[in-house]
Amino acid sequence: MPNQKTWAEKLQENWFTTKLETYVNWARKSSLWPMPFGTACCAIEFMSVLSSHYDLARFGAEVLRFSPRQSDLLIVSGTVTDKMAPVLKKIYDQMPEPKWVIAMGACASSGGFYRAYHVVQGIDEIIPVDIYVGGCPPTPEGLIHGVMLLQKKIEKEKGKLLSVRD
Ligand code: SF4
Repeated sequence: MPNQKTWAEKLQENWFTTKLETYVNWARKSSLWPMPFGTACCAIEFMSVLSSHYDLARFGAEVLRFSPRQSDLLIVSGTVTDKMAPVLKKIYDQMPEPKWVIAMGACASSGGFYRAYHVVQGIDEIIPVDIYVGGCPPTPEGLIHGVMLLQKKIEKEKGKLLSVRD
C-alpha cells in the first residue's frame, strides 16, 4: 500500500526523546514560584510585572508564594539594611533546593546610592545571586528580561537533578 506508514514513521510523529535532565530543567524553568522580598520602591515596580498589562504568567512565574518553603525563586526588590540582612539570609536558607535569586534594582545589586554604613552593598554579600537587574527602579520589561535570562540559565544547568536541601 503506497500511503501506509510504517511503525517507525508513526512512532516518529508521536514520540520524542530527550535527556531526563533537559526535561526536568524545562519543567523547572517553566513553573517558577517566586517569593518577593520587597523592601522599598523597587517592590512597587515588581507589582506591576504581575499586572495584566505585563502578565508574568506568560512565563509561568505568576504563582507568588509568601512562604519560602513553597518558593524556588527569591526576588529581592529594594534596599536591604544591615538589620534586614539576617532576615533575608534566613528566608533564603528556608527555601528548598533547587533555588534561584534575582537582585532587582541598584539597591539590591550593589547598595545603589546608599553608600552608607547601615546598608548592605549588594545582597551577594549575604546570599548567592543568579541574575542582577539594573535600574533605579528597573522597568517591568527589565525584570521580565531578568526572568527570561534566568530561564535560559536553568535550561543549561547540570548536576541538579536530585537537588536536596543542604
Ligand atoms: S534601586 Fe532605586 S527604586 Fe529600587 S529600591 Fe533602590 S532607590 Fe528605590
